[in-house]
Amino acid sequence: MRIYGLLAHPVSHSQSPALYEGWFAHAGMENAKFELFDVEPEKLGAFFERMRDRHTEEIVGLAVSIPHKESVISYLDEVDEVAKEIGAVNTISWDGEKLKGWNTDWIGVRESFTEAGVDVAEKRVLVLGAGGGARAVVYALMHAGAQVLVTNRTFDRAEDLASVFRCPLVHWDDRETVEAEIVVNTTSVGLEDLSASPVSVKFWKELRNGGSEIVAFDLVYRPRVTKFLKDALGAGARIITGDRMLFYQGKAQFRIVTGKKF
Ligand code: NAP
Repeated sequence: MRIYGLLAHPVSHSQSPALYEGWFAHAGMENAKFELFDVEPEKLGAFFERMRDRHTEEIVGLAVSIPHKESVISYLDEVDEVAKEIGAVNTISWDGEKLKGWNTDWIGVRESFTEAGVDVAEKRVLVLGAGGGARAVVYALMHAGAQVLVTNRTFDRAEDLASVFRCPLVHWDDRETVEAEIVVNTTSVGLEDLSASPVSVKFWKELRNGGSEIVAFDLVYRPRVTKFLKDALGAGARIITGDRMLFYQGKAQFRIVTGKKF
């Protein structure tokens, strides 16, 4: 049996088992199993010790989610260059005797824009939030030539993000004064809450009055169409839902951990 799994805390609402089990069936991997590893931050060291002790017979690959994407780095033998630059790992696999980390979130971002037919090059993009998801978003956008502006409720975190990627920033309270063509929500506002959005309805209307086509992308995928996206749609914007990013980052991850393409 080859065991794959999700390392997070908590893991109860994860969609990864459903995705992976479908892909295992599609790839004819009858001896593969997907498990949920709900590991508290203080028990991460013990988890990796066990994984190293028994790796040939047990866990062969992991998806990593909140709150471990940054902290797992110190338990790995190697980290891929892009994941290093992003500062977060969402995929772990064995490379011989070594445990190696990758980041596929940025691929999920890139593929979601491509699928929607949105070319971000030269576009003014406002990124709301400065957590792990935001780092992958800013990396993907900057590598595609976008003009990125970041903002975050906690200013220090926005400053860290802006200094790592050398991009401008704006205070959270001034976020609605920005003239952007693409707005990406990487905050968790709206997660399982249809009444919350990190920006107002007025913001979308005013952006739209600027005359350019507006694109709204929400990383939150539960609900699939968040209030942020509904309000944007109501003002005539195009939308990209977070489930597309989840799918594409998972697809790239599946290839790394199983070595199989589908
Ligand atoms: P994270 O590192 O914990 O960051 C959370 C971000 O949300 C921070 O910027 C935080 O601001 C902000 N935030 C939280 N509550 C807020 C509020 N009430 N008002 C304003 N800002 C608030 O989490 P993450 O890993 O970046 O994930 C963020 C969201 O993206 C989650 O919903 C996650 O599920 C989603 N995500 C989706 C995908 C996908 O494949 N679709 C991939 C990655 C993440 P402060 O710094 O001020 O706390």
